[in-house]
Parts: sequence; C-alpha cells; structure tokens
Amino acid sequence: MKVAVIGAGWAGLAAAVRLRRLGHEPWVYEAARRIGGRARAVPRPELQATIDCGQHILLGAYRETLDLMAELGVDAGRAFHAQGLRLASADGRFSLGTWPLPAPAHGLGVLLGGRGLGLRERGSLARLLAALGPRKALPAEADSVSRWLDRLGCPARLRRLLWEPLCLAAMNTPADIADARLFLRVLRDSLGANAQAARLLIPRGTLDELWPAQAQARLPRLAIGHRVLSLEAVSGGYRVDGADFEGVILATPPGEAARLLGQLPDAAPWLAAWPQWRFEGIGTVTLRLDRPWGSGQAMRMLEERPERDAHGQWLFDRSAIAHGDAAGLVHVVISGASRIAACDAETVIGGVIGQIREQAPERLPEVRAGTLITEKRATFSATPGQRRPGNRTPWPRLALAGDWTDTGYPAVLEGAVRSGHQAAEALASA
Ligand SMILES: Cc1cc2nc3c(=O)[nH]c(=O)nc-3n(C[C@H](O)[C@H](O)[C@H](O)COP(=O)(O)OP(=O)(O)OC[C@H]3O[C@@H](n4cnc5c(N)ncnc54)[C@H](O)[C@@H]3O)c2cc1C
Repeated sequence: MKVAVIGAGWAGLAAAVRLRRLGHEPWVYEAARRIGGRARAVPRPELQATIDCGQHILLGAYRETLDLMAELGVDAGRAFHAQGLRLASADGRFSLGTWPLPAPAHGLGVLLGGRGLGLRERGSLARLLAALGPRKALPAEADSVSRWLDRLGCPARLRRLLWEPLCLAAMNTPADIADARLFLRVLRDSLGANAQAARLLIPRGTLDELWPAQAQARLPRLAIGHRVLSLEAVSGGYRVDGADFEGVILATPPGEAARLLGQLPDAAPWLAAWPQWRFEGIGTVTLRLDRPWGSGQAMRMLEERPERDAHGQWLFDRSAIAHGDAAGLVHVVISGASRIAACDAETVIGGVIGQIREQAPERLPEVRAGTLITEKRATFSATPGQRRPGNRTPWPRLALAGDWTDTGYPAVLEGAVRSGHQAAEALASA
C-alpha cells in the first residue's frame, strides 16, 4: 500500500519505519528543513556545536522506543548515559533514588536511602509507592496531581522538594492543574515497575543520532521542506497535494491535523469532540564552558527563585556523559516556560549562570557563550478529563499519530513512537 505520512517527528518516522517493515510504501512529507519535529537537533555556531532544541530524557520504561532503536541497529547501551532513578538537588541537601535491586526491593532505596527527608516524608513516600501497584485504584478522573497528593496526605515539604518539580518535568504542566491519572501512569510504568524501567536515559549525542537519522537513511521517499497543504478523499484513497495514495497517516501537531482533516467531507462534528488544546513552552539554556566542568553529576535539580531571575529547574553537565567538545556544554531546563515569555534571553541566561554558581558547590568554569532556545508549543497542557482522539478515524485507511493522541501518557517521546506504531498497524489491518 502506498501511504502518505505527513510529519517527520518521532511519531511520523516511527510510523514510516513500521509501515516499511509491514511491506508497505511510505512517502514522508516534512514541513521543516530537518526531521525530528520537537525532538530535533539544531546547529548553534555560537556554541560551536549541534545541540537539541531542548534537553530530553527518556525512561527505561520507554519500551517501544528502545525496541525501535534495536531494530534500526542502534546500541542503546552506547547511545545513552543510563542511571538509576536518582533525584538530587544541586546543593546536595536533598537526594532520593532507587536501589539496583529486583522489584519491589528497588523501592527500598526511595524509602531508606537518600538525604534530607524526615520520617513523616518517608511515610508519605511509602503510601505513594503502595498506590503505584498495578491493581491499585486510579485517582478520580477529575483529580489534579495536587488534589491526589492531598488525598494521600502528602506533606507540603515533600511536594515542594519532589512532586511538584517532578510533575512539571514529566508533564510540563503544574501539579495544581496536571492530570493525576497520567502522572500516575508514568510513575507506575517506571518507579512502580522495577529498577530497569525506572532508569533515566540521557542521550550522549543528539536526539537525531538516537534513531531518526537511521530511519531517514532507510526511507527513500522523504520530502523535507514540504508542508502539505491539501488533503482530499478520492476514489480508492486520498490525494495529498495532488499525489494519490491508498492510505494516509497524519503525524502533525493537532492544529495542523484538524486543518487537513477539515478539508474532508463531514469532518466538523468529529473534530468538534477534540479537546480544546492548550500548549506550554519549555526553555533550555545551553552554556559553552572554557573547559569541561567535571562536576561528576549528569543531572541535578535546581531551586527556582524567579524574583532573582533564577528560573532553572534541572541542570545537566555533559562532562559527566560525553567526551570531546560536547563535554564542555551545560544545559539548564525551564519547563512551564510561559513564566519567562516576557524576559529577554540575556537576562534568563545571566540569571541561570548566577543560579548555578549559587547552588552548585563545585566551581562553574568560565562561560564562553550561552544560548536560550524556547519551544513555545513544546507540549499540550495535560489537564484532567481530556478526551484525546485515538489513532483510528472515521475515514478508511486514514490514521492519526502524535504525542497528543490517546497514548495513555502525557506528551512524551514514547507516546509519539507508540502512536506511530499503532497508526501503521491500524492502516495495515484495514
Ligand atoms: C524542549 C522540549 C523538551 C522535551 N523534553 C522531553 C523529555 O525530556 N522526554 C520526553 O519523552 N519528551 C520530551 N518532550 C516532548 C517530545 O519532544 C514530544 O513528545 C515529541 O517530540 C512529539 O513528537 P511528534 O512526532 O508527536 O510531534 P512533532 O515532533 O511535533 O512532529 C510533527 C511534525 O509534523 C511536521 N508538520 C506539521 N505540519 C505539517 C504539514 N502540513 N506537512 C508536513 N509536515 C508537517 C512538523 O514540522 C513536525 O516535524 C520535549 C519537548 C520539547 C519541545
């Protein structure tokens, strides 16, 4: 079957690879000048490096992504710096992590190890770990993460130190409006499963190098810089910008998918049931240091102090995971980036440098250059009660893919890959 795949983010590329494996002929269209979508590499001459449009981390639980990498011949052991789930503040006052033991003993590390937690907080953690069991009830459908934590009697300090930053990092949505069910799903599949699934995987190179570049090499019909403008239903299939196909996978963001679907007859009532998407940004400050830092810690938490322009939340020192030029880079992530929308880049970069100097005990080397990349529509806001569309549509052999479809996860890479696979399978079985 000749299939148009519209969009070459992780969802579209995963769909195309799966279609090929199933013996079909994917033709991929990508509007941008590079593949990868919101997980793409961008050259930054001022840093003398190609970096990602934002620091990404994956989890050991991201099974379909890891399997796809293996299928494309990528050795995940080399591609990632893998560490047990360990969350630690930059100043060293707070830390928490799993132990490398079989489940459920790995959770003992969270309860008994670490630093900076009192008995009351550990008791609350034990209750939460118990709530992650596969047979435990889900939070109520309307629950926000904050409300769910209220129900579990979570102390305020534990929220501030752990759950609020973790929720913002995992969902890019603040705990008071984030969907508790989606958050629980991420926790259940990782921390609640076993030490392997709970591992944090930090790419050593760019996101392209993880697998999209290998996928691109296997996809002979990939049109870069081609924004698809028209979609028509014709006898035997679809016409996409004048070319005929038997099937279509729409792997664009939801607004663009709705625009294209809106050209089909009778689309309006179906599209009216889609959620009212709201989006949130993520900012990433990257610093080029005059030598590798050597802090020895790949990832730490920063304490935000917005009144002092200290907006950083997570600090990544690439000298702990990479060699050569890349080792001299540091990334700082700012989720919920609408808070910095009114700030100029210089102020944000300067504020983050001051924040690192204040909070990290190891001396930060001289900063030679800094850059801020803000992805304004990084993820949809994952709020309770959203009815996200599935991969199938009312039209034959026309499927949807993207992190915004009903993946069971918030907007994450694994959701994008899964949705791509499911869209391809749906088409192949139609
Ligand atoms: C800064 C940042 C940090 C993030 N951190 C993490 C993280 O740590 N862990 C994690 O798991 N996830 C993270 N995410 C989320 C992750 O990047 C996304 O979930 C994932 O990339 C979404 O992939 P997608 O294929 O669904 O969508 P997209 O990547 O948006 O792909 C859609 C593609 O469609 C193309 N397109 C649109 N319209 C057309 C058209 N008409 N014709 C042709 N092409 C079109 C677009 O150009 C784009 O390439 C982060 C995202 C950002 C932005």
